Amino acid sequence: MSADCIFCKIINRELDADIVYEDEDVVAFKDINPAAPVHILITPRKHIPTIMDMEKSDEALIGRLHSAANEIARAFKLEKKGYRIVINCGSDAGQIVFHLHLHLLGGRPLLQTIAKGRGV
Ligand code: AMP
Ligand code: ZN
Repeated sequence: MSADCIFCKIINRELDADIVYEDEDVVAFKDINPAAPVHILITPRKHIPTIMDMEKSDEALIGRLHSAANEIARAFKLEKKGYRIVINCGSDAGQIVFHLHLHLLGGRPLLQTIAKGRGV
């Protein structure tokens, strides 16, 4: 928990969000400014600022994020047409919220780029 982190506040129910999935380690909610018809942010309950900050002991947790992503993709009927998972790390990637999260993007054909941003 980091006091001034908006995703920690969402995870702790101090801030509203459209939560679509949660378990003991993971919380996922709709992105407030979606770049695709399905745009879900998948976060660990543990406050880890960036993927660069993960520790060896977080390896299983990162796996849990991906298992949750699969479950959410299925719930949103994306398993056949596909989707994209993005992690932004640091300023050159445009990371604006420093609590680790996967972006799950789908529901329309995505450009053949690995970049995030409005033109995904
Ligand atoms: P990133 O650039 O990877 O740090 O992405 C942060 C994402 O969080 C952006 O796509 C924002 O639209 C999204 N976001 C910021 N604040 C909120 C919020 N309160 N609820 C849901 N999504 C948010
Ligand atoms: Zn946090």
